[in-house]
Parts: sequence; C-alpha cells; structure tokens
Amino acid sequence: DRELAELIQNNLREIPDFPEPGVLFRDITPLLANGPAFAKLIDGLAEKYRGKVDAIAGLESRGFILAAPLAIALGVGMLTIRKAGKLPGPVLGVDYELEYGSARMEIRPDSVKEGDRVLIIDDVLATGGTAAAAIELVEASGAEVEGICVLMELLALKGRDKLPGREVAALLSF
Ligand code: 5GP
Repeated sequence: DRELAELIQNNLREIPDFPEPGVLFRDITPLLANGPAFAKLIDGLAEKYRGKVDAIAGLESRGFILAAPLAIALGVGMLTIRKAGKLPGPVLGVDYELEYGSARMEIRPDSVKEGDRVLIIDDVLATGGTAAAAIELVEASGAEVEGICVLMELLALKGRDKLPGREVAALLSF
C-alpha cells in the first residue's frame, strides 16, 4: 500500500482556499491524467479487493471515476450513489449535515441485489457524512457494506468517527 500512497502523493495538486476560503482542496485530476499512474492505482485496488466484493458503489462525482474501472478490473458491476434529484425514481434518500447546511444522497435500491457485498469508493474522506449516508443507503437496499475505500483521508476532520465498526481503507492520510 505504500507504493499506492506515493503514487497518489506524487500526482496530487493541492489548491488553497478552494472551494471556500480556508479549505485546502486535494485535486486528483493530475493522477487521472497520468495514464500509467491511474492504471497502477486501479490495479492496486483490484488486487486488494479481488474476490471480496460483488459490486462497487461510486459516490458522486469523483467516486464514479474510480468505481467504474475498478468494477471492470474485478469483473463485478458498479452502481451510483448520487446527489439529490439526479437519479430517476424510485429512490431511497438520506439527508445529512454539512459544515454549512445539509446535503442529500440517493440510491436506486434495485441497483444492488440482496446480500451483495458492496465496496463504497470515493476520492476523499473528510467529515465522513457522505460515506455514512452511503452506508445507510446500501444497507437500506438490502446489501452488505464490505468496506469503504478512499484515496485520501483528512484526519483532522475525524470522518472515521462517523463510521464506527466499518472497514475503512485510506491509501493516504493527511
Ligand atoms: P465528507 O462528507 O466526508 O465531509 O466529504 C467527502 C466528500 O467531499 C467526498 O465526496 C469528496 O469528494 C469531497 N471532498 C471533500 N474535501 C475534498 C478535497 O479536499 N478534495 C476532493 N477532491 N474532494 C473533497
């Protein structure tokens, strides 16, 4: 996993005061633009989860970019957990608190099968609100959450505290 951590670190752009003053935004677009690095990342993730999961759930939007190639590499399907109003119904939704205001994530419950072991993937774990909502949605749909995987975890925001008892894999931590 150290190799994957370096891969991410070496292909990361850090942008101060985006999208708001005081926030240091970690941008993964240089990693995506580096073909060999992106391929190595997906290979590494596939090795880690091969045989352990039945579906990959990507969190809008950057989670989609990771979930799709990983699903193909593992020979399983992917599903999308989206921001409010994007998925055609019927949907299940979960509202959660942000630092300022609130957000809502939605799933089509028919996008998983009963008992499927689902890996939830996203680029960054910050406060953990998005991941916690995703877990609730996958389980409410009748599937099981095998784990949560993020490229980066922002330790100061204590996102793991919102995911007690969960298998959370972060390739790189700040
Ligand atoms: P949380 O719900 O854990 O507070 O926020 C996680 C969500 O916000 C993820 O979907 C993630 O993509 C996005 N996010 C928060 N901070 C950053 C960041 O520094 N860089 C990127 N790329 N995404 C972030």
